[in-house]
Amino acid sequence: MDAMSRRTDATPRRKTTPTMCKHQQPCPSADSADREAAQPVAHFPEQGWSLLCNGVLLFEDTGELLPDGQIIAPHRPLGTHHVATAA
Ligand SMILES: [Zn+2]
Repeated sequence: MDAMSRRTDATPRRKTTPTMCKHQQPCPSADSADREAAQPVAHFPEQGWSLLCNGVLLFEDTGELLPDGQIIAPHRPLGTHHVATAA
């Protein structure tokens, strides 16, 4: 046993943010294109954003702030669900 080599920092270092997800069906990671499908764990309607359990901040205008600081511009739906190819 080498007690000297013990590290106080037990935080796992991963390439991606450690997931907070404890759902039975794991939510999409913040890296996933499907990230908005993650379960909201906190909702602040008065401030206009929700925190998803993959660490993504989802704003009411559909903008997003990823755990790594990346900002996704709003991409609000324009009334149709289908993203049709522009004619
Ligand atoms: Zn989850």
